[in-house]
Amino acid sequence: KPDTKVRLQTNKSSSVEKYLQPFQLSPETLQEVSARLRKDLLRGLGKHSHHKAPVKMLPTFVRATPDGTEKGDFLALDLGGTNFRVLHVRVEEEAQKVLKMDSQICAIPQEMMLGTGEQLFDHIATCLGDFLESHNLKGQTLPLGFTFSFPCEQLEIDKSILIRWTKGFNCSGVEGKDVVQLLKEAIHRRGDYHIGSVAMVNDTVGTMMSCGYKDQSCEIGMIIGTGTNACYMEEIKNVKRIEGEDGRMCINTEWGGFGDDGCLDDILTEFDVEVDKTSINPGVHIFEKMISGMYLGEIVRLVLVKMTKDKLLFKGQISEALGTRGLFETKFISEIEDGLENAKKILTELGLDWSLVDASVVRLVCDTISSRSAYLCAAALATLVNRIRNNRKLGHLKTTVGVDGTVYRKHPTSKLQKAVRLLAPQCDITFLVSEDGSGKGAAMVTAVAQRPAHQSRL
Ligand code: BGC
Ligand code: MG
Repeated sequence: KPDTKVRLQTNKSSSVEKYLQPFQLSPETLQEVSARLRKDLLRGLGKHSHHKAPVKMLPTFVRATPDGTEKGDFLALDLGGTNFRVLHVRVEEEAQKVLKMDSQICAIPQEMMLGTGEQLFDHIATCLGDFLESHNLKGQTLPLGFTFSFPCEQLEIDKSILIRWTKGFNCSGVEGKDVVQLLKEAIHRRGDYHIGSVAMVNDTVGTMMSCGYKDQSCEIGMIIGTGTNACYMEEIKNVKRIEGEDGRMCINTEWGGFGDDGCLDDILTEFDVEVDKTSINPGVHIFEKMISGMYLGEIVRLVLVKMTKDKLLFKGQISEALGTRGLFETKFISEIEDGLENAKKILTELGLDWSLVDASVVRLVCDTISSRSAYLCAAALATLVNRIRNNRKLGHLKTTVGVDGTVYRKHPTSKLQKAVRLLAPQCDITFLVSEDGSGKGAAMVTAVAQRPAHQSRL
């Protein structure tokens, strides 16, 4: 006669499975996701289809990766991750090194993220002014790389129109405007310092370029952090909006917007739908909301709440913290995955009355949701490497991907890498974690733009 306790466990585990199964994507599904993205890349690149394309495929006016001859001193601004930063960066040709001389973090208070654009840019100009002052750089007119990690329609390296805010920012009067202009106006309003030429950079581009100094076959940049996105070197002849047939240009895919036309609806779970609905930008960046740090914790929380309501966890008791939107932080996921002891500690801190079985179910939930994030990224990355290989009519492609972002750094990357290999078997990919790509990379873009003979090495 079977032990009732064991039977209960088995019942429980099959109900748990029922919740998690929609998050488990088969290799065939991932292949399908990759194929859909392949079509969307083409829509984004097309002259007449890009207006409506969910994956925007934005030209960056970066036509070459570093060739090792770049040098000089630069300022860099980095806005769009967790913090706003000002940096002084030196590129040394002899040592083939990008050195961060100094940097300073400036917090952006939540109210400012949702305030007016003028306030935001005044704040940025103040932080930059303070930095120049305290580092005795005010007299110099250094070129400035501005890493601005939001989708922008770039018209030149120094003219960049914000399409829309993402990741919790929503300042008025910036969408549709040239961000470089807004920065220059704010500096002008102060009138106490000058800056040199400006290069606008997406963080993915900065990441690719900062890795590119070390490894010149780096032609993809990928971020899995607060948001997610990737860029890669595309043949200019395929970028129908850009004149010219020769050479390459880095394209900022903005793959976070994949699915915004409903093409991923069949893989969304009820929890994804809920996360989107309660976000500050419903209907926008659907792919990003399944993958990135801004949302993963909330997905886990919603699953745990539902399981608790269905009496599968915590004796059916939801604590106040678990019941509050945003209080289950994404960083808990990797901490919980790291070990059962962490899981117990976090559940206690969340005010939950947990059992050992509860703790291991929570670990399973965390693992399932972070794995889905890794697999979806793998599917998207596979699309890019396969595309580069086809572009160059190569039987086999060896390439390097520069990567950054807390979600990438904190989670086991083996799943992502294994899945990409499965989905892009003819590509041999090296992953290079960027050291401060958003800061150093912006300087590198500025440096490449200033190269005497600015032409493509590739
Ligand atoms: C933005 C991208 C950015 C990514 C990673 C997304 O929300 O739209 O421009 O590269 O986040 O920071
Ligand atoms: Mg063209």
